[in-house]
Amino acid sequence: MISADIHTHTKFSADATCDMEDMIKTAISLGLEYYGISEHFNYEYDRLHLKIDGEEVPPIDEKAYFTRARAMQKKYAAKINLLAGAEFGFDDNSRTQERYIQTVEKYKPDFVINSIHVCLGMDCYFPHYCEGKSKEFAYNAYLYRVLESLDAAYPYDIVAHIGYCSRNATYPDPKLRYEDFSDVLDAILRRIIRKNKILEVNTSAKTAGSPFIPDTDILTRYYELGGRKVSFASDAHYAARIGEKRELVCEALKKIGFTYLSVPFRGKELQLPL
Ligand SMILES: [Zn+2]
Ligand SMILES: [Zn+2]
Repeated sequence: MISADIHTHTKFSADATCDMEDMIKTAISLGLEYYGISEHFNYEYDRLHLKIDGEEVPPIDEKAYFTRARAMQKKYAAKINLLAGAEFGFDDNSRTQERYIQTVEKYKPDFVINSIHVCLGMDCYFPHYCEGKSKEFAYNAYLYRVLESLDAAYPYDIVAHIGYCSRNATYPDPKLRYEDFSDVLDAILRRIIRKNKILEVNTSAKTAGSPFIPDTDILTRYYELGGRKVSFASDAHYAARIGEKRELVCEALKKIGFTYLSVPFRGKELQLPL
């Protein structure tokens, strides 16, 4: 059974809508033992002045977020293990990375998720990322960016949503397949293992052509290479998606051979049996 969902967003993130307490109550009602909030810290968006629908994305109120999350941890301590984390958008710029280091030192998040959102100067989540690019070019550019992000200077625990660029891709066959990108995916998976990081299984797949990202072919290869550390992520931006497809992911992971989920917590790691 999967009893941990440690990648979700509340309305402290600019693209999410739910109040934190409502999200926590839903996680409790689902019987989760560990529930992680990982608000967006998009310093790369700030640096590049990226816009969504013509508007700059307002930065997160970091102090308000951690203050509220720490209060909620106390309030619900008897009912659920709430983790107050952060999702960092990777940027190769050294000043941006330094800002992330300072944020970790200042707020000491319980865990950090490292994500590629921006590639070739735009957020590769949106369909326009594909415009004028072959699938091979667009996905390779994204995957090499993921590879680069693994060497980020700031501390992180989890490698997020590999296949993010396929979520809304407009190609007739958007699925990211191991066999089509095996060289760069092998490099990514080997580096995740060497650096002792956790590979996330993310069920916010949209129209990626897979029920979760990365799909079983890539997870199988990770296991073959010796990778054992995986986390479960709904990436819910509202309460109704918390824990979504956790039974499906659990069965898929067990079939490959995984026996536990990894839950990072302030530099330690828990193993929860599947
Ligand atoms: Zn993300
Ligand atoms: Zn997220």
